[in-house]
Amino acid sequence: MNAQVIDGKAFAAKVRAQVAEHVGRLKAEHDLTPGLAVVLVGADPASEVYVRSKGKMTVEVGMKSVEHRLEADTSEEDLLAVIKSLNEDPSIHGILVQLPLPKHLNEDLVINSIDPAKDVDGFHISNVGLLGTGQKSMVPCTPLGCLMMLRDHHGSLSGLNAVVVGRSNIVGKPMAQLLLGDSCTVTIAHSRTKDLPDVVRGADIVVAAVGRPEMVLGDWIKPGATVIDVGINRLDAPEKGEGKTRLVGDVHYESAAAVAGAITPVPGGVGPMTIACLLANTLTACCRANELGEPEGLTA
Ligand code: NDP
Repeated sequence: MNAQVIDGKAFAAKVRAQVAEHVGRLKAEHDLTPGLAVVLVGADPASEVYVRSKGKMTVEVGMKSVEHRLEADTSEEDLLAVIKSLNEDPSIHGILVQLPLPKHLNEDLVINSIDPAKDVDGFHISNVGLLGTGQKSMVPCTPLGCLMMLRDHHGSLSGLNAVVVGRSNIVGKPMAQLLLGDSCTVTIAHSRTKDLPDVVRGADIVVAAVGRPEMVLGDWIKPGATVIDVGINRLDAPEKGEGKTRLVGDVHYESAAAVAGAITPVPGGVGPMTIACLLANTLTACCRANELGEPEGLTA
């Protein structure tokens, strides 16, 4: 294996430490505590785990953490009322509605009811538009984490060829916008792309956000390229014992690491950066709401 491993776990710890330091200063100098509210509808086990870990890390960096746990059959009206009260609460600077929502709730309607200034997931249509037009916005956490790691590794990204595999609204599209904002030449590939391996071979930066285990192979990678693997896929691992599973990314790690210049592992790559960036976004939202400067190095 030749590639440098980009350690997302260590990087995320550094980002959280930066956030904590800034939060400490806000408290000391302005008597301000950033607040993050997470709304969970229903009891999806994976969402439960995310929400618990978000709450714990929010408190660890010195922020206020609020959780609203609503029944799975909560009406749209009641959910919108909770969001309205959080929009109006001056102690809350970030609101996150845990997705997916139960089927009877209109996800777009719910997300677009969040005050865009508090939309720390960056999914509100206003933030999508602001990012798309290169204006100051709240940026989705996973692509922001990828961008931070890429900037840290490369310094300037200007002029590099970037291929983003996947065009989802939460990862692929905002990732492409961010790379374009940093002056990469960006290609977005998807399930209809012709000769995907050849498209990927042209990339100095590959971001894989597909949801297909180990799809991107080493012989698709240009020697020396940087590979960011967003994928989180759980595979059966009978070798670890009955009923055990293991996590793999969308990139075939071993073959890609033999060719790439740098690569993020799964687990321990992009995953930990997502929550770190949620905290960074909450801090940014608090600073903007109080007309204080943007926290340096923690925004796009
Ligand atoms: P989506 O399912 O919303 O999007 C997947 C994209 O991959 C689509 O654009 C699809 O194309 C494309 N695609 C599917 N099959 C192929 C193929 N054979 N060749 C090329 N492109 C293909 O997924 P998400 O963007 O939400 O997530 C992607 C991955 O990232 C998942 O593994 C998810 O678990 C992970 N993830 C990780 C996060 C983290 O914190 N690390 C956060 C969010 C997601 P088309 O549009 O044509 O259908």
